Amino acid sequence: MNVPFLDLRRETLALRNELEQAVAAVLDSGLFILDGRVADFEAAFARFCGVDHCVGVASGTDALTLALSAGGVGSGDEVIAPAFGPVATVAAISASGAKPVLADVANSTLTLDPGRLEDSLSERTRAIVPVHLYGQPAEMDPILAFARSEGLLVVEDAAQAVAAEYRGVRAGTIGDAGAFSFYPTKNLGALGDGGAVVTNDAELAGRVRLLRAHGADASGQSQLAATNSRLDELQAAILSAKLPHLEERTARRRQLAALYREGLAEGELVLPHETPESRHVFHLFAVRSRERDRLGERLESSGVETRVHYPWAIHQHPAYAELAQKAEGLQASERAALEVVSLPLYPELTDAELEAVIDAVTE
Ligand SMILES: *Cc1c(COP(=O)(O)O)cnc(C)c1O
Repeated sequence: MNVPFLDLRRETLALRNELEQAVAAVLDSGLFILDGRVADFEAAFARFCGVDHCVGVASGTDALTLALSAGGVGSGDEVIAPAFGPVATVAAISASGAKPVLADVANSTLTLDPGRLEDSLSERTRAIVPVHLYGQPAEMDPILAFARSEGLLVVEDAAQAVAAEYRGVRAGTIGDAGAFSFYPTKNLGALGDGGAVVTNDAELAGRVRLLRAHGADASGQSQLAATNSRLDELQAAILSAKLPHLEERTARRRQLAALYREGLAEGELVLPHETPESRHVFHLFAVRSRERDRLGERLESSGVETRVHYPWAIHQHPAYAELAQKAEGLQASERAALEVVSLPLYPELTDAELEAVIDAVTE
């Protein structure tokens, strides 16, 4: 059986009518940028997250950058981020004008190792960006405790963790602000780019609102020098149509993860870590193997598509090579880059397809 790594057409097919209606309503309105549909989605998403403010922006990367800028981070500052994950996080930090400083991840969760934050601290450190990688919340209690004791801003990169929870609180709402991405493959995906900043801090939300539209206030007068980064009405309408299905689709992700866990328990793969205090939403189901490449090839020949998230630690990308100098001991990140491989997991994956993956792995 051929099992695609991801097939977004399945989700679109299931919601076809609702999505077509959403698109038609926007076409008929003649209103395409920052109007009622963006405001409606912002209110619905804030409610979903259990937070006071949500500001829609153009992407997850921009959400991180604008949250940092709104929090006062900029040129001359340093921001701590994990050395393992997508480059988007450090790219967003650089775009704020600040310098990313890498810290190693914990080998078990592949999220920031709270015990290693101290190593990355300097007198210029202004913020920490924990990444809730693969949908697993980072260990926020010790990270927040460290941040509070050092007077640092915490912006959560919740791009992979919509609907995840840490001690019963939604990921993205635990620190000072949270950044979400609605890139099409994310657990809540638009039909193009989109992102959002959520926060309980009214002033920070107000500054993000200014920063996403040339700093313009309600009168149109520019209060802050800024470029633009807007969520558009079409994407907001699509996201509002999809949001009511997110809980059910998240439950299916968790069910599939539990089935993988059962089916793969006997083998030699290291299965995703799920801490007791968190609700993992399995944006990705990344297993670890010392023979990752061979496993990938073997699955490929059985028709099972896999992907590697991520084949390089951040400082192993040429663009970020200079970040390695300051970072010592990023071994857990480098090892993860050699060992991780993601198996297909999305709500529309059938039980039969999941069985086929398990069979191909255990063969
Ligand atoms: C996808 C992603 C981003 C960037 O989001 P875009 O919408 O693609 O800009 C940032 N951080 C993480 C962890 C991501 O997975």
